[in-house]
Amino acid sequence: MIIAIDGPSASGKSTTAKGVAVKLGITHLNTGSMYRAVTLALLEAGIHPDDETKVKDFIAELDIRFDESNQIHLNERNISKDIRSENISLRVSAVSALSAVREKMVIAQRDIAGKKDCVLEGRDIGTVVFPNADHKFFLIADVKVRAERRLKDLEKINETKNISDLIEDIKRRDEIDSSREHSPLRQADDAIPIDTSDLTIDEQIEKIINIINKK
Ligand code: C5P
Repeated sequence: MIIAIDGPSASGKSTTAKGVAVKLGITHLNTGSMYRAVTLALLEAGIHPDDETKVKDFIAELDIRFDESNQIHLNERNISKDIRSENISLRVSAVSALSAVREKMVIAQRDIAGKKDCVLEGRDIGTVVFPNADHKFFLIADVKVRAERRLKDLEKINETKNISDLIEDIKRRDEIDSSREHSPLRQADDAIPIDTSDLTIDEQIEKIINIINKK
């Protein structure tokens, strides 16, 4: 069984996908963390996303994996915390718009999830990665609520930012993700929209589990 959860930044995808996967006892794949890992690797190597030929050669050698605890590793190094920084958030959309990057990530995602039951979250899961997914959801939320969630996430890694700057960053990222040429962020025609603005995490998870159980 494949469950696709797509939606814009900070719409509640990660917490919801994780909770749904735990309830169903299946794998959770956070595809955004893979694009973040590539962004971190490029940044550390001093490669600019505009240099697509260099990017292509560089990522061919990259080893990105998840361990049993779903921690993400880049060439054997646990980067799960590093990829959550605002520095990476500000750069990831330019990197994930590159077709060379997307092609490699989509192959890896199909490889990881193709042989098992999995909840995948991202921007293009229901439209491109698994267009025949058994269940598709599209999470949305008010931008102010999303910025507040993002602020809480940043506090966990001892970073902080002004809420109005966060609102602007989120809007900018959504704009790049929705307008890019390759696999833009959009709701699949057969995805069920869920507005999480006024829902608690438990309510979000319950809502999705109920829909899955009814189908
Ligand atoms: O979900 P998260 O905010 O961590 O994703 C980071 C970025 O990765 C997104 O803003 C988007 O640019 C990119 N992404 C993507 N396709 C996915 C998942 C994430 O382009 N399936």
